[in-house]
This record gives sequence, C-alpha cells and structure tokens, in this order.
Amino acid sequence: MKNRIYIVGTGPGREEMMTEEALCALEQADVIVGYTTYLSLLGERFAGKEMRATPMRQEKERCRICFEEAQKGKKVALICSGDAGIYGLASLMFEIGKDYPQTELSVVAGVTAASSGAAVLGAPLGHDFCTVSLSDLLTPWETIEKRLRAAAAGDFVLVLYNPSSHKRKDYLKRACDILLSVIEGSRVCGYVENIGREGTRTELCTLDALRDREVNMFTTVFIGNSGTRIINGRLVTKRGYGGLHD
Ligand code: SAH
Repeated sequence: MKNRIYIVGTGPGREEMMTEEALCALEQADVIVGYTTYLSLLGERFAGKEMRATPMRQEKERCRICFEEAQKGKKVALICSGDAGIYGLASLMFEIGKDYPQTELSVVAGVTAASSGAAVLGAPLGHDFCTVSLSDLLTPWETIEKRLRAAAAGDFVLVLYNPSSHKRKDYLKRACDILLSVIEGSRVCGYVENIGREGTRTELCTLDALRDREVNMFTTVFIGNSGTRIINGRLVTKRGYGGLHD
C-alpha cells in the first residue's frame, strides 16, 4: 500500500492565515516535520503532536526524515512557511521522492509572502509581477542579476524574497544598483517585515532610498512598476481602469 506525505504551506505566521486544508493536514498528521522556528510558530493547537525539528540548511535531511517516518506507517506533514512550492521544500521532496516510489506526495497550498505582504501594503500586485530571490546559496549571482535586469526591462512589479541575511548584508543594495541602471530612482517601493507575526512593520520609499535601507531576512520587498503609486499611504499598482491616472 502507498503511504502519503503532506507538504504543507503554513502561510506567513498566524494560524488565521493558514488555509483550512493546511490545518486539516496538520490535524491528521502523526508527526510534523519542519525547521525549528516554524514548528515553534505553530503554537498550542498542535503542541501534543510528535515534532521532528531540523535546523536551517539541513533541508535534505529534513526531507529524508519525512520519507523514513512515512515508511514506518506514520502520517507525515512537512511544513514550510508561506507556500511550500515557492522557495520551499516541495520540489526537493519530489526529487528525493524518486527513491521512495511507494510514497505519494500531496502539496497543500499556502499564502506566500508576496501575497500576504501585498495585502499589508495595499494592492501593489494589481498587474504583472515577478518574484526574485536574492539568495545566492542555490542560484549563482549572475543569474539573479540577469533576472533583475529582465524584470526591470519588462516593467514588472518586482517582489524580492530573501533580501538579506547575516552573510549577505549588502545584497539589497547590489540589487537596487542593478535596477537603478534601468529604472528611475523615484520609483515607489515598499517593504514589510514580519508579515502575520509579532512586530509587523511596513515602510514605503523610493528606489533611491531603498538602496540605503537595511532590511532583515524576515522582510519581503516590493518595487513598483511605472504605474505604481502611493494612494492614501498605501502602495497601489493600477490595472488601467481609469480614474487612477495622475
Ligand atoms: N515559502 C515562503 C518563502 C521562503 S523564502 C513563502 O512562500 O512565503 C524566505 C523569504 O520569504 C524571506 O527571506 C522573506 O523574504 C519572505 N518571507 C517569508 N515569510 C515572511 C514573513 N512572515 N514576513 C516577511 N517576509 C517573509
């Protein structure tokens, strides 16, 4: 008989921001596997469950634990923040899953930081957008740079994930410098720290100003397209219905 692992996106933080489907998958699980910080974010509701925590950077190990637990006959849920398929472990699970043909994988969608952060800022994703992660742990910096240039040239609204870490303090500045070679410095931007968690903080600024801001790894950055405006303190990308033109 096949066993099954649920790969669950838990949204940005608070339980209300998880989907009902994600909550059900966790309710039915015998064991919940995840990165230490995200397991502790789950709170009281799942306190009685068996938890298997692994530290950051041990992603392969975390995936293997899931398959091993499933083979013991346990119902397993692997949690990732936001959406597990967006800069999360869903794809690695399918790759490692080639070695475990008796295990079926189900991905449960979650609210990704682009979506939850946009809601906090207003409506910056009202038109075509793309996301770029500034982390070069798994992607060469040249590729990141190429994608930033292409996004700017295509007049996409741009969402930056992983804008900073302890080892990459100046990456946002580097990204802004690349964008500033294509986009004007007065372009409106915004960023949100700790979406759906304690200490949510938002800022709106220009691309010029963004270049000199220090953000942390729990921040998602939004760079408007040529039609993005600040309306009553909120970041809005017009869809072109009229009435928003200035
Ligand atoms: N799978 C996640 C993304 C993981 S990559 C998702 O779909 O949201 C990690 C990056 O996501 C962080 O560096 C940050 O840019 C963004 N992020 C995730 N959760 C966040 C939160 N609660 N608040 C702000 N940014 C967040």
